This record gives sequence, C-alpha cells and structure tokens, in this order.
Amino acid sequence: MGNSQSGLSRRSFMGSVGAGSLVLGVGLSSGASATETKPIDVSTVTTPVTDVEKLPNAYYLSNVRLETGFVEEKKAWLDAPVVTHTNTELKTLRIADGKIAEILDAKAEVPAGAAAFDAQGQLLLPTFRDMHIHLDKTFYGGPWEATLPTQHGRADRVAQERDLLPKLLPSAEERTAAMIRLMHSHGTTVCRTHCNVDPVSKLGNLEHLKASLDRFKDTLESKIIIFPQHGLLASDSVSLMREALKSGGVSYVGGVDPTSFDHALEKSVDTTVQLAIDFNVGIDVHIHEARETAIPAFNRIMDHMEKNKQLQGNVTFSHAYSLAELSKEELNDIATRMKALGVTLASAVPLGKGSMPLRELHEAGIEIICGTDSVMDWWNSFGNCDILQKANEIARLQYRSTEYDISRTLGYATGFVTPLNDKGEQAWPKAGDDASFNLLPASCSAEAVARLPARNAVFHKGKLAYGAVSKAA
Ligand SMILES: [Zn+2]
Repeated sequence: MGNSQSGLSRRSFMGSVGAGSLVLGVGLSSGASATETKPIDVSTVTTPVTDVEKLPNAYYLSNVRLETGFVEEKKAWLDAPVVTHTNTELKTLRIADGKIAEILDAKAEVPAGAAAFDAQGQLLLPTFRDMHIHLDKTFYGGPWEATLPTQHGRADRVAQERDLLPKLLPSAEERTAAMIRLMHSHGTTVCRTHCNVDPVSKLGNLEHLKASLDRFKDTLESKIIIFPQHGLLASDSVSLMREALKSGGVSYVGGVDPTSFDHALEKSVDTTVQLAIDFNVGIDVHIHEARETAIPAFNRIMDHMEKNKQLQGNVTFSHAYSLAELSKEELNDIATRMKALGVTLASAVPLGKGSMPLRELHEAGIEIICGTDSVMDWWNSFGNCDILQKANEIARLQYRSTEYDISRTLGYATGFVTPLNDKGEQAWPKAGDDASFNLLPASCSAEAVARLPARNAVFHKGKLAYGAVSKAA
C-alpha cells in the first residue's frame, strides 16, 4: 500500500513540478543568489537513499529551502503594492537529538565524517497536524467498501456499526497502522484521534488503538479522545468511559449530540463534564445538531467552564455546523465567549454544507484545528488523511487565490506554525525547534497549498517518518 501511494504521489508531483520550477526562477526576483534560482531537478528529488533505520541521531541537511519574506510589487491597475511572490533562501540545517540545532548558511562547511543529506532545494514546511480523525475505525487496509444507504439517518449507521465492530476488531490494529502510514505519506506526524467506547467493542478498539500508536511512537505524536459513538447515556456507556479513563493514556472525554443521541441535553453535557473533571482531562465533543439544540449545548458546556477553571483552554467543539447558521452578531457573541474561555473549534472543513465561518473565527482569535475525521469507513467513503488538502479547501472556500492569502491558509494544516508571519517576517524554523517538518517540491507555502505536491520526505523529531532524502555528494 505504501508503495502504490508513493507511486501515485510521484506521478502527480512529476506532473506539476515542471511548471513550479519555472515559477521558482521568476518568483525570486529580489535578493536571490544564483543557487537560489536554480530550478529543482525533478529527476533526482525522490531518489530513495535512506530510510528510518539509516537516519542517525545527528546529521546535516543541506539545500533546504526556507521562506524569508514576501515580494511586494506595485501593479498599474492597483492603488497599493501587493504581495506577488515569496522570497526563499537555501540553508543547511544541523539536526541533533530530534531538534533543529542550528540553521547554517548554505555554504557552511559540513565537518568531515559527519552524516549529511541533501534536500535538493525542496521547500521545508512545518509538520502537519490532523486534529480530528477516527484512527480506530476504517475499511482502509482491507477490501474497498462504500457506505451503505440509510433510511433512518444515523440510527441506521449505528446499527450497522454494531454489526461491523466485532468483525473488524481482530484487524483493528493493522488497519490503524495502515492509516498512520497514509497520514505520514501526506506529511502528518501530529494527531488527535477519537476512539470508540461503546457496549459492542467495549474497550477493544481502545486497546488496539493504543497498541498501534505505540508502534509509531517515534514518528507520531498523538492524543486520544474516548468517544461514546452510540450515545453516552443512550447506550449506557458511562461506566465504560470511566473504565477507559482509568486505563490511562486518554487526553479527552468525547461526546456526541446530547439532544439527538441522548435526548437529554443537560444530563448528557453534565455527565461528560463530570467525567473530564474526575479524571482531570479535556473535552472534545462532536456536536452536529442544528442551532436550536447545539447553541444551548455549547453554552451549557461554557457555563461549566466558567465554574471549573481546569477546563478553560481544554475544551474543543468538533464540527459545530450550527455556527454557520448564526447571524454576524450572534456569531460574534458566541465567539467572544469561546475566546474568553479558550474553546477550540475542530473542523473537517465540510464541503457543500454552507461554509463554516472558519476564517471569521480564526480572525476573531479562536483556535481552529482541522482534521480529516472519518476516513474510508462506514460513515464516509471518502477521505485520504491529507490535511494539506484541507488547507487547500479552506483557501478555495474562504480566501482569495492570491500569493498572500493562500500562504496564510497553510496554518490550518500546521497549527498556525508558518514559515512567515502575517507581516512577512520569518517565524519558523528557529534553532531549538523540533525537527518535525516536510520536504516538498514547491517554491513556497502558497504553491504547496495550491498544488498539493508530494511530501517527499517527512520528518518527526529528526526521524524520517516517510519518504527519502539523498545522501549529500
Ligand atoms: Zn469525528
């Protein structure tokens, strides 16, 4: 599976980079040296030379392309100068103990005998973060299955799930591993994953998920949300949730639609909050309901947050489609409260459901995190674990297709760690940062978001999670 993925990525990359290289030369209009304007040689970029086992603890990575600032130009038809391109420079990184120990000039001498690799002019971007995914549930890694039609909405889906879960449990760990490899191939090394806790699989999915995550602990930083998919109260899952929390390794109590699943908004919210308080963990709840019940649920959670300070900054509303139903004033009111209490919004960037006000909420200071959610399972046939594609979708839905605007949307994939800040100042990487990053055949962040090139080498804390880099000549 990894090989075919790599083959596909390479083909799409080969198809797009020729044009990208041309833009690269033109784009570096000011202050670019001869080496910086050299186009990427696509015939050598993906040469597989090393892998996870071979990468040492300390090494040099040369010819890394870092963004250094925006190019502004005055155009005849515009009143003010605009950002037209992004400047970059080639640098050498010294990696040691999982960190970017030093950022050196491109021509810096690499000590004799030191391990050295060549990024071949590829762009360095921060690692991607999938902050809402269900790694415990997928058909991926097994035969293709499309979702089945339903007659009674999600009740049918849950009935199907009750039937499927025991059948899939024996292969759960391997299917999770397949999904993690897929995430890695798209540049993600940080995730927050939901995990079913329900009367059918009980803690089985959680045990398999933990085992799979443990296998990837060197290349994936993860947090687990326990998720009562069949309804916390409706499926009588409270004691199972307590058991799951007692088992350790859980960071958040999950939940789903207190009114439409549990038919008890107040009791469902209060029980969820109590679980989080009792075990001193956060909350991350799916609320897909319409505004009539969703907004009261959000406000009840926030009432609890006001009284219980340990929850402040540790609560996430997932999906929250109802926010798209609000007027500007109503959105502003709830956003102000969310911001004051440190509520995060997680979104899988729904297409065709009315545009979620992600940009407005981000600009209002709400922490926005993105995820790929259900991937190739019985809830959703689609999905590919590519969080950069989510940034691309947000860019297309809510931003202009300009160099500046597209470059800003990279943040939705990286937890808003971006090479340049909004003013165009260099913000990442800095010496001392984790060596968690991607190498891509792109000239700048905007091109990466717009063209979704292959992630040719994916690093997590200095280790290669996916792809390859060439040995330095
Ligand atoms: Zn979800």
